[in-house]
Amino acid sequence: MWQEYLYLPPGVDGQLNWIGGFIQLDETVEEHQEIAALAKEAVDGRGEREQPEHETSNPTIDLDSERGRPLSTYWHEVMHYVQTTTMSYLYKWTYILLEKMLYAVSEASGQSVEEFVASGRLVVDVDKLRPVGKAIAEDLLGHLDGLDARGASGLSPRMIFESHAFITQWRLNHGRTADSGRALTIRELLSQFCPSDTYRVAYDFVRYHFGEDPAEMMFLPAAALSLCTADPVATFERIVFESATDTELHAAIDSVDADQVYQKLRQLATADHYETAPHTFLANPERRHPIYTAAAERLVEHAQLVDDFFRAPEIYIHQVLDAVTHPAIFGSPTADGIPFLDVPEQLDNAEGRALLEAAAGFAAAANAVLGSAYDYESISPRQEKSLHWLTRPSVSIHACR
Ligand SMILES: [Zn+2]
Repeated sequence: MWQEYLYLPPGVDGQLNWIGGFIQLDETVEEHQEIAALAKEAVDGRGEREQPEHETSNPTIDLDSERGRPLSTYWHEVMHYVQTTTMSYLYKWTYILLEKMLYAVSEASGQSVEEFVASGRLVVDVDKLRPVGKAIAEDLLGHLDGLDARGASGLSPRMIFESHAFITQWRLNHGRTADSGRALTIRELLSQFCPSDTYRVAYDFVRYHFGEDPAEMMFLPAAALSLCTADPVATFERIVFESATDTELHAAIDSVDADQVYQKLRQLATADHYETAPHTFLANPERRHPIYTAAAERLVEHAQLVDDFFRAPEIYIHQVLDAVTHPAIFGSPTADGIPFLDVPEQLDNAEGRALLEAAAGFAAAANAVLGSAYDYESISPRQEKSLHWLTRPSVSIHACR
């Protein structure tokens, strides 16, 4: 079955399918419904924008509880999705990846992309896919490796966006443990729950140069702004180093003026051809990804919201998701062996479903091309209504073995 190409590897709880623009989770429908409901509770509990930002009422969740882990995974993956629709570096990286894969899959199927999209059906000979995958491997691996290219500091773009997603997911949950019953400090979070160095070293870099409290104020904005330039690591390093001697910034940190801190950091970032994903869309409307481009396009009218999200992602992520489209979720097979596709409300129509079918089918074909060489990352969504679409998309891969 073509869907098998989308099953998560053992031990992986979730990932954003960069190519397809949807999230894959290792959850049954029932588990997913529970987590989606918890996530929705967090949103509904916030009310409108009346509360001061530091008093958001996202409910606390035991990070080490049975539900804590999948909820954290869910928000982590949603963060990657929103990063991709707002930050130009990831936005561009993703559509370039898609272009490379479109070429490979077209070669292997003898079908143009237009034919595929029009018919919603892709018939790919897996035996043809493998040689094509090999032929483009060098180019493709070079592109994939870009996320792990180290700068002078030893940091990579992946380290910046992973730390950004990890710290934000903790803030969204107001993470605490059953033992303490209180929100964890970032120091406790990093020492007890950080899955690997990748999720913390960019944060540690700021902490090392500025100390605990300033890092807590500076890190998320500095990371987001840096991911809006062509070389996020160089920008991130420069922002941190230049910040060290910026007396206005230090004054803003001392007076806990988050808005002023953000404005100063933004000034520093704009020295490096800074642009958000909506800017990139406006500058290159022909370079498209069906999911992320539609989202970036919707954000063109919301420049202030994008800035707000960069300044305080845990507060504004809900508004960004409402302004764009919530990500779709592909989940583990149910008892009858059929995986589920959870369709966001905004795409729950004939056109939206056709788009998701095509995206899922194409992502599966791309995985077949890439085989084990392909290592991609994860994300996750929320629904206004519980609309779980158990589906067998009409896209199929013909395995000739
Ligand atoms: Zn991640």
